[in-house]
Amino acid sequence: MAHLDIRGLTASYANLTVLDGIDLTVERGEIVSLIGPSGSGKSTLLRVITGLLKPDRGEIVLDGSKIDYADRRSLKAAREKLAIVFQQYNLFGNMTVLANVTVAPAKVRKRDRSEVEADARRLLEKVGLGDKLNAYPDELSGGQQQRVALARALCLKPEILLLDEVTSALDPERVSEVLDTIKLLASENITLLIVSHEMNFVREVSDRVVFMANGKIQEIGPPEQIFDAPRVQRTREFTSRIA
Ligand code: ADP
Ligand code: MG
Repeated sequence: MAHLDIRGLTASYANLTVLDGIDLTVERGEIVSLIGPSGSGKSTLLRVITGLLKPDRGEIVLDGSKIDYADRRSLKAAREKLAIVFQQYNLFGNMTVLANVTVAPAKVRKRDRSEVEADARRLLEKVGLGDKLNAYPDELSGGQQQRVALARALCLKPEILLLDEVTSALDPERVSEVLDTIKLLASENITLLIVSHEMNFVREVSDRVVFMANGKIQEIGPPEQIFDAPRVQRTREFTSRIA
């Protein structure tokens, strides 16, 4: 069974159709990257997957269960399997690094506090911030803050982690530390759906790459296909311009 199965998905804002017949199947443990020009619908696709936007048509089957957008319990069940990290890391400025990572699992998910804290320490160690547990966000660089955001997302124990341009707001010299961290996360035994403009990173880390334009998937394939031998003219134009 696929971990995430998106079938015939169409979505719009007011009367602007931004996703137009998306079919995508992601297997458990797979790393799939979404690339494509700005406005092609990548973030919107993540919004629909996380239940923030109801599709007009089509369906999403997560772990064998179809998301019912009219049913709060169904949405909650779906959200508990997912975590998302955005370009803006939105840490709580009045909380330490450790508290930022533990607050949602302990308070919202009501997990055992000492277990959550042990998890958080392990994850912060993993993202290279084991010495910053008691620091506050404004004492950290943008790259460090984004690594806290990644640890925070993982501490929710998601089955699928969605990353939406997590390096786009960073100074260039901070980008690689975050990309290196994501590579480490790939070993956390989760499914990763990544939106990124960092083409070298996408090529290196992805099992499959999805090229989107105009709300449609234009081409899906392994990185070697998408970057070196695209089968669709539109993909070739994009990857030759950007790589
Ligand atoms: P991408 O992430 O690939 O850059 P988006 O999914 O953000 O693309 O946007 C797809 C299209 O939807 C764009 O035309 C964008 O202007 C439009 N859009 C995005 N968010 C909204 C919104 N909240 N309201 C109206 N239109 C939106
Ligand atoms: Mg976007």
